[in-house]
Amino acid sequence: MLRIAVQKSGRLSDDSLALIRECGISFISSSLKLKTESTNFPLEILFLRDDDIPGYVADGVADIGIVGQNVLVEEGKQDLSVEELGFSKCRLSLAVPKSAEYNSVKDLEGKNIATSYPNLLQTYLQEQGVTAHIHTISGSVEIAPSIGLADAICDIVSSGSTLISNGLKEVERVFKSQAVLIANQNLSEEKKAILEKLLFRIHAVQRAQRAKYILLNAPNEKVDEIISLLPGAKSPSVLPLAQEGWSSIHSVVNEDDFWEMIERLRDAGAQGILVVPIEKMIL
Ligand code: ATP
Ligand code: ZN
Repeated sequence: MLRIAVQKSGRLSDDSLALIRECGISFISSSLKLKTESTNFPLEILFLRDDDIPGYVADGVADIGIVGQNVLVEEGKQDLSVEELGFSKCRLSLAVPKSAEYNSVKDLEGKNIATSYPNLLQTYLQEQGVTAHIHTISGSVEIAPSIGLADAICDIVSSGSTLISNGLKEVERVFKSQAVLIANQNLSEEKKAILEKLLFRIHAVQRAQRAKYILLNAPNEKVDEIISLLPGAKSPSVLPLAQEGWSSIHSVVNEDDFWEMIERLRDAGAQGILVVPIEKMIL
């Protein structure tokens, strides 16, 4: 049995549980329970505050966990990281009141900065050669300037709308973060084997998320040109259509470049293009 710690309720929770489910691991979750056990995989799930997850995994209370890199690095536990998971992407940024004059990070010299991430901020300021007074507060950092508690803040930003609605502007990006899978460094052989199985499934899910299955029809004389446009496709399938002189081409493409590619495929004579999601992808 492997124990995984996930955030009980917050910005990591839904995607963490969705990932576990996409790995084919079934469990019943209830907002009232602190732990649950999978019915078809040797996994027990603990629901915790995100800040507690790195410590619990380091101590072996949980074997693995899902947490933001911002929390992991802030707590100095980056050695536990085993896999970037690609969700809960955000950044830690410095922001100042909209009306404040700001030219460079040097303007923060001697200023008061409120944050929940004193270590990440301190590391950044040191790299920049700036000395400031860091005030550690645990929440509602964005209101600190308006109540006179600080000249600037250093907080998590994704779209920036919270900053704007608090009359602040983002001026420096301090740290980029996403969710990561972490693991205790002294797992038993049995637990390591379960973790390997889980990682195998996670990789299949991740590959599938980035990839799309593409099907299209083309006149036979255009098939070679169209195949040359399909990036990274080792060997697309080419099947004859019932209609004489036409073929159907099937391949897997990366989501990131498929829009641009679809234009080129159409220009090359492709018709009836279908793009469908892939659920799992095993190489
Ligand atoms: P807890 O009660 O568990 O301590 P919290 O309030 O500290 O929760 P959340 O706001 O739920 O934490 O954020 C959890 C993590 O999600 C953050 O540490 C960060 O990695 C990521 N995150 C935070 N804000 C955003 C955002 N706006 N968009 C995407 N990810 C975010
Ligand atoms: Zn937290």
